[in-house]
Amino acid sequence: MTGSTAAPFTADDYRARMERAARTAADAGLAGLLVAPGPDLVWLTGYTPPAVTERLTLLVLAAGQDPVLVVPALEAPDAHRAAGAAALTLRDWTDGKDPYAATADLLDASGRFGISDNAWALHLLALQQAMPGSSHASLTEALPMLRAVKDAAELDLMAAAGAAADATFEEIRNVPFAGRPESEVAADLDRLLRRHGHEQVDFTIVASGPNGANPHHEAGDRVIARGDMVVLDFGGLRDGYGSDTSRTVHVGEPTDEERRVHDIVREAQEAGFRAVRPGAACQDVDRAAREVIAAAGYGEYFIHRTGHGIGVTTHEPPYMIEGEERPLVPGMCFSVEPGIYLPGRFGVRIEDIVTVTEDGGRRLNTTARELVIVE
Ligand code: ZN
Ligand code: ZN
Ligand code: ZN
Repeated sequence: MTGSTAAPFTADDYRARMERAARTAADAGLAGLLVAPGPDLVWLTGYTPPAVTERLTLLVLAAGQDPVLVVPALEAPDAHRAAGAAALTLRDWTDGKDPYAATADLLDASGRFGISDNAWALHLLALQQAMPGSSHASLTEALPMLRAVKDAAELDLMAAAGAAADATFEEIRNVPFAGRPESEVAADLDRLLRRHGHEQVDFTIVASGPNGANPHHEAGDRVIARGDMVVLDFGGLRDGYGSDTSRTVHVGEPTDEERRVHDIVREAQEAGFRAVRPGAACQDVDRAAREVIAAAGYGEYFIHRTGHGIGVTTHEPPYMIEGEERPLVPGMCFSVEPGIYLPGRFGVRIEDIVTVTEDGGRRLNTTARELVIVE
């Protein structure tokens, strides 16, 4: 994906985001933010460079200063369009010139700066050489909640991405499972997500039988058989915003134990969802889901956190995990995805994206959470 997304954001939106980012950085004791191409840059400016290379592209934000985008001269035409749309100043540099010295000129030489996590080490090392008195912090660690609270237009895009993932599930439950390798069903998921408007597919997990007990299993050549539980977990970006949903289906009639384990996960997912309300701590969502699974005797088989934030990426803060005491705020979007993983046997995971409203949680995925039987 290059250029701008179809996102309906205006120069005012981007200006407000950049101002808020600079202010939040100052509050966190930072002299500014250095934002490399990637999700933070897209969110702050709408700009995605035509290619990410060894040539420096960097958004420089400091409180009380106009935002400046440092770009290679040969990418100036694209950058000019973005700069116009985002109301920021361009500083282009030609090959042979030192872009790091030019960047240093814009900054407090002894400051501490937040730098985006996906900035190349090449660029950070050169900046440190150009500004020996400066220091750097992870932007995500310093400002974890920067992108967490979505505005109304962003929530519409999140809901549309969720609806597209749900439409994908409604179709995938009708394809044949038995006798086909996992990788074929995964290819179906990829095709369906794109047909429902996704420009980027991040994962298409199809984990059948014992593979379902490994939460990181993607999809392989195992041939799905009658009697298998199959964990499906898929998502990506649609119009620049993320989807991520899991449902666990069964090929043919399940055993009593399979039904029972699925019921426990469904109840845990419901408990996590019900814990969502403004002011609750992120860890409360994890605790609520985990309690149900522990009480049913499967606590040791729930081996990951309950959820993660989602927005212009499919995994980002806030995390629904023990120890995360930050409060839930209306507009946040994150997954609630407990699971039970029985080694060598099968796994179950159920995942919805949930957004925080004034009254509680609202699910952005609404397909059946009951155990779906496939053929
Ligand atoms: Zn079975
Ligand atoms: Zn997922
Ligand atoms: Zn997820």
